[in-house]
Amino acid sequence: MSDIHIEAIVVPLYYDDGKVVHACESYFMHPGPEMIRTKCDKVVLPGEAFTLSNATIDVTCDACRKAAGTADARPRRW
Ligand SMILES: [Zn+2]
Repeated sequence: MSDIHIEAIVVPLYYDDGKVVHACESYFMHPGPEMIRTKCDKVVLPGEAFTLSNATIDVTCDACRKAAGTADARPRRW
């Protein structure tokens, strides 16, 4: 019987800070609480981040969009 069901933790997580929506990455620390950071490096308390199972949401934080490589396709200037 293989009833073991491991859910992927790789769902997109979002965090709405009231102004913009951030994209989150979650990290698992050694035994202890899960730590979540947005891609722009804000720490999010577990429970504050949310995910949408059947929908996507626009990330409106510029820094997160850049970090995720989904910023608009303008050529980068160095
Ligand atoms: Zn952000």
